[in-house]
Formats: sequence, C-alpha cells, structure tokens
Amino acid sequence: MKKIEKRALLCLLLSGALVLGLCIFSVRFFLQGSQWASFSANQHLYAGGGLSRGAVLDRNGVVLAETKDGKRQYNESKSVRMATLHAVGDSQGRIGTGIQTRLAGKLSGYNPITGVSVTGGTDITLTLDSQLCATAYEALNGAKGTVGVYNYKTGEVLCMVSTPTYDPQNPPEISEDDPAYEGVYLNRFLSASVVPGSIFKTVTTAAAIENMDDLMDRTFHCDGETVIGGAKITCPKAHGDLTIGQAFTVSCNCVYGQLASELGADTMEEVTEKAGLMDSISVSGIDTAKGSFDFDERDKGSLAWAGIGQDEDLLNPCTMMTFMGAVANGGKAALPQLVLDGGGLLDALGSKQTGELIEKDTAETLSSMMRDNVLNNYGEGKLEGLGLCAKSGTAQVGGDKTPNAWFTGFLQSEEQPLAFIVLVENGGSGSQVAGNIAKQALAAAVGR
Ligand SMILES: [Zn+2]
Repeated sequence: MKKIEKRALLCLLLSGALVLGLCIFSVRFFLQGSQWASFSANQHLYAGGGLSRGAVLDRNGVVLAETKDGKRQYNESKSVRMATLHAVGDSQGRIGTGIQTRLAGKLSGYNPITGVSVTGGTDITLTLDSQLCATAYEALNGAKGTVGVYNYKTGEVLCMVSTPTYDPQNPPEISEDDPAYEGVYLNRFLSASVVPGSIFKTVTTAAAIENMDDLMDRTFHCDGETVIGGAKITCPKAHGDLTIGQAFTVSCNCVYGQLASELGADTMEEVTEKAGLMDSISVSGIDTAKGSFDFDERDKGSLAWAGIGQDEDLLNPCTMMTFMGAVANGGKAALPQLVLDGGGLLDALGSKQTGELIEKDTAETLSSMMRDNVLNNYGEGKLEGLGLCAKSGTAQVGGDKTPNAWFTGFLQSEEQPLAFIVLVENGGSGSQVAGNIAKQALAAAVGR
C-alpha cells in the first residue's frame, strides 16, 4: 500500500508541475507573444530586409517608413530619415527604442489567436513633426547630442532627435571603435544619463526657495573662488555681491556650492527625487534611463559640486524636459508620449500626468527667475511674446575635453505650451551653442 501511495503522490506532483508550467507558458504567450513573433530571427516578417507590414507616420501623415514591393522604404528626405532614425528604428532592429522594434507586433498585425496577419498590420502615427525633427537635426550640425520638444499639457513629443545617427535606407558599415559613431544605436534623449552642469541649478534653486525663509532677502558674495569642505569651487570670474536672482542668472558656482552645503544632503536628495530626476518614466512604453546623484552629508565639498550639477550627477534629458514642463504648468505636467494613434495603443492626450514634481508657489518663483535669465542674459530671438523661460548649462566632463552644452526650459504660453531640452556633447557654451539650437527648434515648432 505504501508503495502505491508514494507513486500516487509522485504522479500528483508531476501533474501539478505540468499544470503550473502550462499556466506560466500561457501567461507569457499572451503577454510576450508579439515580441516572440517579431524576434529579428523570424524571417517571415523581415523578408526583403525590412518588417513587411504597417507604416509609420508622423503627426501630419508624412510617411516615415512603409513596405513597398516587399521592401522597407523610408522617407524620401535624407535629413528626415537621419533625424527620425531613433524614433522610427531601422530594418535590422539595432535601434532598441525605435517604434519598429518596440511595436513590431502591432505593425505586423500580430494577435495571440491568429498569429501574424497575412493581410497586413496596423499603421502607427507618431506625435513627432518630422520637419521639425529635420530642422533640429540640421541645427545640431554634425555634433553629438539630443534635442527634445514636447507639449507639457497634452504630452505630445513634437521633436526627438539623437545624434550621431545614420541613414536607415542605406545603413553604413559601422565599426565599433569609430569615434564618429560613438553610441550611435543609443537614443540619447530617452536612454542616456549625462552630467547636467548648471541646468541642475534649477533644482538647487527650488530646494533653496522651499527651505530658506530669508532667501530672497539675502546678499551672497562671490570672490571667484571659495573652499567648501576642502574642495575648491571656482567661477569664471569674481561675481561680487549678488541676490539669489542674480546668482541664478550669472550661474555663480560659489553661491550654488554654498546653497547645497547649507541645505544639506537630505534636502537636496528629497527635492531631486520629488522632481522625478532619479526615476525613469515610461514614454509610450519605453522606459527612460534613470538619473543618479550622490548627495553625501559627510563630504561637503562633493555635496557643493553636486548642487552645481557636477560631481557624480547624471541626468536623463527626457526626465529633465518633463520636470521643466511641470515647472511651467504649476507643479505637474503631462507625461511625454510618442504614439498618437496606433490601433488601440493611444492614451488620451494629456491623460497621463506626472505627480507633483515641484510645489506650485516654488514653480512660479523659479519660472520668473528663468524668465529673467532670458530677458537679462540669453535673449528671446524670434520667440518674443511667447514667454521663453530658460537655464543654460556648461558642464565640465573631465580632462581637457570641451564641456557639454545644455539649454532647457519652456514657453509660458497658452497657445504654445512647449518644454524643451538641448544637449550638445563637447559643444562648449550652453547659452550660445545649445541656446541657439533650442531657439531654432522652438521657432520652427511655433511656425516662426
Ligand atoms: Zn561666482
């Protein structure tokens, strides 16, 4: 009898394992089947060198990629092809964030019951304006970097360009150690984390506004250099006596080092975390890279540099742009979206919002300081009357390398609620180099 009992138990266990295995398989089949079917080794889909199904369009209906005679064809303009490579993706699946890779299942008409459709899949319309992307790409003029512009009320990303790039219609041979193509498969806007430099002073300013009661009445002083916790903090020149507004406009390192050191590591961390800069956000299902910061109370020198946006600080361009949207929009903003329409993929525009990234009053004060930066320092260019608010950054990247140039901010405009970010790697001056690219992209975005 004992033997039979043992065998029955064994049978029960084995059949239990079988049922469990089937359950796991079924769940994974329904959740991931589309990815399995569109795996790049599935030549039924990729025959002819390209995904042989639905088209990818921009917001104006311009075709960015489609299948013709069994071959994947991209937009006829080379600038548009180069500018939208990281959004659209390539035929080889090398651009991981490309919509052709991420939504391959949708494009191929995949369905868990019937499999890949023979008659063709869904077309996907992106939120991007491909002409605007091409303008931003040309403004980058061969430099490595990224340009992002989005509507902080609806979430539509109008411009997303990452360089270096290449032509998906005629993909070049790229050798791994070719410096011209360094990180070419990476979408810098969504997937890079970069030293922010002075654009991070927006966050330190927010922390100071919320935690220093006498901030607006204080007079700071800059001798051109100071020592905090044994670390030497320097400015390009002695800025003399400064209000906080003036220190923000001239981007005084000595004052911002002092602010971070006075605020303390916990406060700096709390405000940075609240701003969402340590988290990743989901942009139509693509998770952005997380930022990282190391605020250390025991090392005041490194804390001071962290408050200036240097030290170990790393920031993702897309999350920073979203934070700028929240500053413009009274504390919260729409989450960026890349897909405007795509067979049930659509989230209603503006339906997905961030949490409160900054207090409303703080956002208003910071906005007016960023507005003063433009009026007193950067200039408005063609953007007069749109309430351009901005902060530039010129981030040291170590050694003898030319600094990274940054420019970020937003338009305070009901008709044109746009936030933006520009990074030019080793570009030099933030306000000059990145600022000019941002102004060109924004002018194109608002039709000027
Ligand atoms: Zn200074």
